[in-house]
Amino acid sequence: MDAKHEENKSESTGLDFIRRIIEDDNRTGKWGGRVATRFPPEPNGYLHIGHAKSICLNFGVAEEYGGSCNLRYDDTNPAKEEEEYVKSIEADVQWLGFKWSNKLWASDYFDTMYEYAQELIRKGLAFVCDLSADDVAKFRGPPTRPGKESPWRNRSVEESLDLFDRMRKGEFPDGARTLRAKIDMSSPNLNLRDPVMYRILHEAHHNTGTKWCIYPMYDWAHGFEDSLEKITHSLCTLEFENHRPLYDWFIDAVNKDRPKEKQIWHPQQIEFARLNLTYTLLSKRKLLTLVEEKRVNGWDDPRMPTVSGFRRRGYTPEAIRAFCKHIGMNKADSTVEMNLLENFLRDDLNKRAPRRMAVLKPLKVVITNYSDGGGAGEELDAINNPEDANAGTRKVPFTRTIYIEQDDFREVPPPKYFRLAPGVEVRLRYAYFIKCTNVVKDASGNVTEVHCTYDPATRGGDAPDGRKVKGTIHWVSAEKSVPAEVRLYDPLFKSAFPEDVPEGQDWRANLNPNSLERVEARLEPSLATAQPGDRFQFERLGYFTVDKESSPAKPVFNRSVTLKDAWAKEEKKTAKK
Ligand code: ATP
Ligand code: MG
Repeated sequence: MDAKHEENKSESTGLDFIRRIIEDDNRTGKWGGRVATRFPPEPNGYLHIGHAKSICLNFGVAEEYGGSCNLRYDDTNPAKEEEEYVKSIEADVQWLGFKWSNKLWASDYFDTMYEYAQELIRKGLAFVCDLSADDVAKFRGPPTRPGKESPWRNRSVEESLDLFDRMRKGEFPDGARTLRAKIDMSSPNLNLRDPVMYRILHEAHHNTGTKWCIYPMYDWAHGFEDSLEKITHSLCTLEFENHRPLYDWFIDAVNKDRPKEKQIWHPQQIEFARLNLTYTLLSKRKLLTLVEEKRVNGWDDPRMPTVSGFRRRGYTPEAIRAFCKHIGMNKADSTVEMNLLENFLRDDLNKRAPRRMAVLKPLKVVITNYSDGGGAGEELDAINNPEDANAGTRKVPFTRTIYIEQDDFREVPPPKYFRLAPGVEVRLRYAYFIKCTNVVKDASGNVTEVHCTYDPATRGGDAPDGRKVKGTIHWVSAEKSVPAEVRLYDPLFKSAFPEDVPEGQDWRANLNPNSLERVEARLEPSLATAQPGDRFQFERLGYFTVDKESSPAKPVFNRSVTLKDAWAKEEKKTAKK
């Protein structure tokens, strides 16, 4: 994985190919040493981790080279845009730690684009076409054969100007006519076969209201948005590589026959690979389907690969930025392991998350020889973070009855099981050695309670006689712990590549029905006052964060990521034998 990600970085400079282009441009003075980028989301959904890659790139290079980066809403499509999405996009960019130089809307340029379109008609480079959408496609033909020219291609400039004006005035119904560029119907690049520039759409726009009933197509609009903002490096994903000739053609067409001082700015489009992640999908349309079909609980469901989902899951912006930096920029699409992203979170939280004890699936343990004075018990010292000397210690209450994980007890222990079992002595973290003396079962034979004795001499966790135990387990006081709902997550999809499905099925067939498990856990009391967004390591269980639905009366935690679980591997190995 690492070798693959590094291959596109220069050996001598460690720079990816985009930063190498920028440094070359700065050396040659191509843009006068200026670096101006933009992040251009369409506000038709929440941002996902793929967008984070683009954000880190665009805002990142602007920061590194003292340039600017605009947040520009690509709102050329009137039907789908919503205020909620706009808000979420801004919150996500800010949360990732970036500041835009300007916040702009593509729709603010509609007037200018319209004038450019008239100019192209006058230059004989565009025409109004009366073909239906189906016929436009039919005439375009397959890439292997030249297409057929529209019968309207050679109508007069005056007629096209008049019809374009009437299109704008709303005289024609949706789809009746289009404005098309006159390029080359035999180009092997289909994008150059007289592409549509404007379509008729009688639809109100969130910004321009009912002013327009013709809307620019993406390819026509995008280059001018960049041009008007004097973007230097227009960074986009690989699927636009085939559109670059068109991007350049449109700007050149406006500049044709214009005197030098009237020429419009011509940015450089550079393409990089999209991010794909295993066990999830990075497509706003598909994520919207999950939300609409209520297969998840909203865009910020902690299982979603959205920036807001990761935030609610407990991810830090630092972990996401470190991940994006690590995967770097490449020229070929690939899929990155989800585990790699998780490792960046583990690394980050390992350094800064305070440690706490919590029991997810409680089993009652009574320490029969411990007298806790009617429930008062005692307070034991626990270390807040062994990775951070300044994090200090806290007190955890210990009482006669405690909870341990059901998983930490086996009546009949398998080989190499070093946790509690009849006759076996283990260490209770920060507390004492205990030894199992007896088990209590219900009528159907399930263990409901485990009885142990403790050794008072082992207070703090070590035996003065040097006696060793093989296992250390976590616990909480039964009376003094607080109940909480803890949500445990598995991948949203059963398959690493959710789009690989048998004939006749779609990606939804790969949804994992068990991606969310809710447990009634017990937490050490200091967690009762934790605030939404606070992050902790629950010892031996992983990293957890307080959910936005949490309240002091009913705490709710999300597991962000597990710790590396050596035992699970061990168990698999022994199961195979
Ligand atoms: P989706 O297919 O999920 O809707 P999109 O490309 O249509 O994504 P936009 O809102 O147009 O979404 O994207 C804004 C910017 O983010 C674009 O420059 C786009 O190239 C980039 N981007 C989107 N998805 C990814 C991804 N998976 N990896 C890297 N960059 C991405
Ligand atoms: Mg898009």
